[in-house]
Parts: sequence; structure tokens; C-alpha cells
Amino acid sequence: MTLRIGQGWDRHRLVPGRPCILGGVDFPGCPVGPLGHSDGDAVCHAVTDAVLGAVGGGDIGRLFPDTDPRWEGADSVDLLVRAWAPVRGQGFRVVNLDVTVICEQPAIAPRAAAMAARLAEALETETGRINIKATRGEGLGPEGRGECVTAQAVVLLEKP
Ligand SMILES: [Zn+2]
Repeated sequence: MTLRIGQGWDRHRLVPGRPCILGGVDFPGCPVGPLGHSDGDAVCHAVTDAVLGAVGGGDIGRLFPDTDPRWEGADSVDLLVRAWAPVRGQGFRVVNLDVTVICEQPAIAPRAAAMAARLAEALETETGRINIKATRGEGLGPEGRGECVTAQAVVLLEKP
């Protein structure tokens, strides 16, 4: 059996008037949303980088460059699905995925289960293998000032 671990980190500025989508889940009441060439979904981007890192597959910017108009406004769950397909094709499956989201808003906890369900579907695994944690910046740094959302992800993959 082969085990591979990968980690991902992403940060997007939060600005008024942008749809707020994190982990593929919509936060319709949120007054700010992540700015980005795609939908700015920092959670999906961190998870994608973790998966790519685990298999030595480079990074999300190499696969989906922000200079390419094809990815403008892209659904980041779709980007994750596209990144996952060749990894699954190599015979890997998810052992577990652990995600930390750091932001002042939106409130992540009420929708953490929905996020896990979206990510589980994208990665063709069960929600029980995915953990979503959220914390706030306690007034410190850009997260604490509400300027950005940061996501960290660690994934363990196995190939029987
Ligand atoms: Zn990103």
C-alpha cells in the first residue's frame, strides 16, 4: 500500500458585493465574498493544492492559470473535480481530509457539514473522512481585521 500526504494553503481578499462561496457552499446572507479570478473559493483551492501536493502534481495555479479566460468565474468545486480525476485514475482514495478555515465572516460552523458533503462528493469519498474546522483571527492580522479568508488543508491518500 502507498500512503501520500499533501497540504494546501490559500487566502483570498473579502470584498463587498461578491458572492460568498466556500467549500462549494453558498453563504447568501454574507455581506462580503472572496475576490478571485475564479469564484475565489479558498477552501476548494487549499484542498486542490493538498491533493496535488500529495501526488507531486504541482499546484492549482499551474493547472488552472489565472491568465486563462477559461477559468474566469470558475466553479472551484469543478476545478477540484478536474484535479482529482487523474489522482483517482492513479488508484488513490482519500483516507482523511482535515480543513481549517480562518475568517471573521461568514460563520462557517453552521454550514461545515454541507461543506464536508460537497467536498466528499468531489473527492468520491464519505463525509466521515472529512473534517471542517473554523476559527477567527481574534482581531489579529488580515483575517482578524476581516480583510481575507484563509484556508488550510491536509489530506492523506492511500493506494491499496
Ligand atoms: Zn485561491
